[in-house]
Amino acid sequence: MGLKQQQYINGEWTNAISGNTREIINPYNQEVIATVPEGDEEDAKAAIVAARETFDSGEWATTPATERGSIVRKIAELIERDREELARLESLDTGKTVEESRGDMDDIAGVFRYYAEIADKDGGELIDSPVPNSISRVVHEPVGVCGQITPWNYPLLQASWKLAPALATGNTLIMKPSEITPLTTIKVFELIEEAGVPAGVANLVLGSGNTVGAELSSNTNVDLISFTGGIVTGKKIMQAASVNVKKLALELGGKNPNIIFTDADFETAVDQALNGVFFHAGQICSAGTRLIVEESIHDEFVSALVERVKNFKLGSGFDEDTQMGPLISAEHLAKVEQYVETGRKEGATLAVGGSRPEDPELQKGFFYLPTIFTDCTTDMSIVQDEAFGPVITVEKFRTEEEAVKLANDSIYGLAGGVWTSDIVKAERCVAKMRMGTVWINEFNLYFPHAPWGGFKQSGIGRELGRLGMEEYTETKHIFQNLQPEPINWF
Ligand code: NAD
Repeated sequence: MGLKQQQYINGEWTNAISGNTREIINPYNQEVIATVPEGDEEDAKAAIVAARETFDSGEWATTPATERGSIVRKIAELIERDREELARLESLDTGKTVEESRGDMDDIAGVFRYYAEIADKDGGELIDSPVPNSISRVVHEPVGVCGQITPWNYPLLQASWKLAPALATGNTLIMKPSEITPLTTIKVFELIEEAGVPAGVANLVLGSGNTVGAELSSNTNVDLISFTGGIVTGKKIMQAASVNVKKLALELGGKNPNIIFTDADFETAVDQALNGVFFHAGQICSAGTRLIVEESIHDEFVSALVERVKNFKLGSGFDEDTQMGPLISAEHLAKVEQYVETGRKEGATLAVGGSRPEDPELQKGFFYLPTIFTDCTTDMSIVQDEAFGPVITVEKFRTEEEAVKLANDSIYGLAGGVWTSDIVKAERCVAKMRMGTVWINEFNLYFPHAPWGGFKQSGIGRELGRLGMEEYTETKHIFQNLQPEPINWF
């Protein structure tokens, strides 16, 4: 592998201080594909010192925004140049199809391009002053040292949502990718170096959450934590980050409802209900795993889903006809199996799937059959808990009010969808749905200009769009009196 299998701290490629390493496993066949440093608290501390000193020197923060934008644009160009290599690396590491990974790489380059374009568009704002002969203005400045922690499902896409706005706004950062999928993030740090980001600005530490991640969250020299991952980890980070009242951006899980009305275009709704869940074997925070279907088409809709699901082609992400790859790890496969077992015990009806595939070719990989449960109700834990696997639960509704009530019955509020040809009805539903993103006659569409994030326990703050950049800035009000005079009160 032509990849540097190292960390990147203060402009140097390094091994872990302890000398420890971790093997990275291909989820398709359990072969070792790389051996990378297993950093810990000491590596995190070294990176934090580098990021702190670099930020405090002021050099990067005061680099003209146009220049920072050009460097971020250069990273986009390098990602486009190395698109195929990156896509194949992502598929090797995660098991997803190469075609899907190519799409990810295009999205990632788009994210860097978007933040490059808007890097120098925020010149601050003059605001009305109550004092004659004075200037009152608002400027945005970088927050400082940012800790960035990402999950394993969309390793580089999630990293890009954090790296691009942090760099564009003049912060320094320490990135910690998921310990099981670090490869494309390492590769992008090679590109960050090649693009000319100064030493100490962007640092990469590899290792686990309870060592490197916990150090980033609790170290008082880190000013901001941006985290994407599970709700339990998010709560731990929130607690740890209180030590110095860090700014926090949390992108947590989702259990996303997808409401199908009888008057929706049937074929399109079936097709997109499948797309909304089974990409990357359902390991998507915004997967539409809670289907809420109007009673009058429920049976027909479920039959159509089941027919399609039976013909899914599972296999290697490197085979052109593969539609769905494996789950990420043995541990995660066990969790999904347990979730399905719970569904059976709770009395849901298994319409299709519900086991590992029997195909001998797939036995070395962490495969699970696409699965659909019907007769689901909101009191079941399978309707409330995130499966993060290829499993759909289907609920029935009779009225519009009931559909919205079911959709909102969740601790999560990440995303949701509504399928109907009645646009007025769609708008009525959307106005009541408590989620950060709602799609009408669409599912799972992201783009760099639109903010992404959750209501309720799906998180705090937003990524992407202008708001995703504002997370990385502090707001300063500057007031200048051009004609100061004594007040003569005392
Ligand atoms: P996870 O919470 O187990 O791990 C995420 C990251 O946090 C990893 O890098 C891990 O090493 C680190 N971590 C673990 N414990 C930590 C600790 N105590 N302190 C600091 N860092 C720690 O999540 P995962 O299993 O990697 O990813 C799946 C989860 O991510 C799902 O819940 C999914 O919904 C969520 N997710 C959300 C979004 C979103 O945009 N909202 C996107 C992708 C994934």
